[in-house]
Amino acid sequence: MPHRPVLPHFAAGRKPAPSADPTETAVPVRTAVVIGGGISGLIAARDLARSGLSVTLLEAGPELGGCVGTHRVAGLALDSGAESFATRSPAVADLVAELGLADAVVSPIPGGAWLQLPGEDVAAAAQPMPQSGMLGIPADLRGPEIVKAIGRAGAARAALDKVLPVGGLARRESVSLGEVVRARMGEAVLRRLVSPVVGGVYSSDPDVLDVDSVAPGLRAALAKHGSLAAAVGSLRAAAPAGSAVAGLAGGMGMLSRALEEDLLARGVKLETGTAVDAVDRAGDGWTVSASGRTFSADALVMATDGPAAVDLLAATVPELAAARPGPGPGVALVTLVVDQPDLDAHPRGTGVLVAAEVDAVDAKALTHATAKWQWLADSTGPGTHVLRLSYGRALSAAAAAGDTRPGPVDREDDDLFAQALADASVLLQVPLGVDDVVGWDVVRWVGALPSAAVGHRDRVASVRAAVEQVPGLEVVGAWLAGTGLAAVTTDTRARIRGLVEQL
Ligand SMILES: Cc1cc2nc3c(=O)[nH]c(=O)nc-3n(C[C@H](O)[C@H](O)[C@H](O)COP(=O)(O)OP(=O)(O)OC[C@H]3O[C@@H](n4cnc5c(N)ncnc54)[C@H](O)[C@@H]3O)c2cc1C
Repeated sequence: MPHRPVLPHFAAGRKPAPSADPTETAVPVRTAVVIGGGISGLIAARDLARSGLSVTLLEAGPELGGCVGTHRVAGLALDSGAESFATRSPAVADLVAELGLADAVVSPIPGGAWLQLPGEDVAAAAQPMPQSGMLGIPADLRGPEIVKAIGRAGAARAALDKVLPVGGLARRESVSLGEVVRARMGEAVLRRLVSPVVGGVYSSDPDVLDVDSVAPGLRAALAKHGSLAAAVGSLRAAAPAGSAVAGLAGGMGMLSRALEEDLLARGVKLETGTAVDAVDRAGDGWTVSASGRTFSADALVMATDGPAAVDLLAATVPELAAARPGPGPGVALVTLVVDQPDLDAHPRGTGVLVAAEVDAVDAKALTHATAKWQWLADSTGPGTHVLRLSYGRALSAAAAAGDTRPGPVDREDDDLFAQALADASVLLQVPLGVDDVVGWDVVRWVGALPSAAVGHRDRVASVRAAVEQVPGLEVVGAWLAGTGLAAVTTDTRARIRGLVEQL
């Protein structure tokens, strides 16, 4: 009689594998609980249900989707968090197609973003964002737009990248992105090109970020090619051609809604407003407690942020405590819907990335959403524009010590609104007043962007190793996979495939 294979690390204390012969005894349906209803939890629940498991998903918040949500401003349904996905892998596009949304995939309106650099004359210090880099690191230092951004002295220093020995940078255990860029290309490239891009994507200063987490493979490519520019060029060449990001006509929030509908159709039990407060081993399975209720399952998937996952698993996987990540940066997003026909000309393309040293504005980035997404411009009509400004940037310890300003998530709504209106006027060089505003909203994200501080890659490796020892457990989410829908989708699906194979 054939036996279901029992993997070695399942052997101790596991239930005997059920018989594969249905005439002998009915094979009980395996059960799974997924904790966290962001994109990783929704994908995990879906792939578990597709594999025949009976799944319950528990989400603390009132809605599913986590960072991929929708809010209404001036009657428009707008993305409250993620608004696009990277197309360097087909992972998100494949998922979207499985959910029947392939026709909704759209590219941004060409034009690209601008870069706001410090300078007395704000308009003169703005320029289109130089292309062909990676996280703002140029692949070709001779491009005129690069020289314009970093100046002749900066370009001369950056050119040393070609001749400097790679030295310890490739060998050291953990290095920040800032250290790598500063050592190879100098301060001007770091502050004027890399910092604005990284601030926009990770809400962090490059000196905070682990280069191996935010640019996997970059140090290996540096060692191989001998210069950072060549390393970036080689990684760029390996990426697919065409637009680097895509969106959904209707907004990325449609992805969360489509996943929710799909889960309901598959019979997955969805429990929102259910914050899990304890997780325990129960024989070979798991019990999960949330607001006085208890859920039992054969398999458990943690799909929360990092600190919550480590805290909830403290009793069952104590090894994780040493790898508990710090809280990620707090971010406030201010969305303005304005009636201002002067913005029809898209004065700063799809938006502006702001260097930290620009004193005239507080925002780290502005997205001109109606200049980026045609579907949105069609729904507002000419003259009406959607602007999204983001606030908050994790600083290095040294920089944070001298910064006494309140964090963005602690600022009052009215204060952030006034700041956003002033910042948008400066960045777009179009005066915007309260009377132009037809709607606005503030969304705060606390701990949603994971910390990718130096050492993060090693932390992830130790979490993975500890989790692998525990039968019936998987841990997913951006804190392990890396920020962004492409990374989260790819990783979650691979992890759930592995978990299903074990069960
Ligand atoms: C403002 C913003 C803009 C972004 N823009 C983009 C973009 O344009 N493109 C892109 O690719 N990526 C973007 N990202 C990143 C991307 O959205 C995230 O990497 C991804 O959505 C993370 O998914 P996740 O499931 O890992 O985590 P989350 O979405 O954070 O979901 C985790 C869920 O777990 C729940 N939870 C936590 N603790 C518990 C508990 N104890 N019990 C039950 N539930 C719990 C939380 O409530 C949350 O819903 C953006 C992120 C932010 C914050």
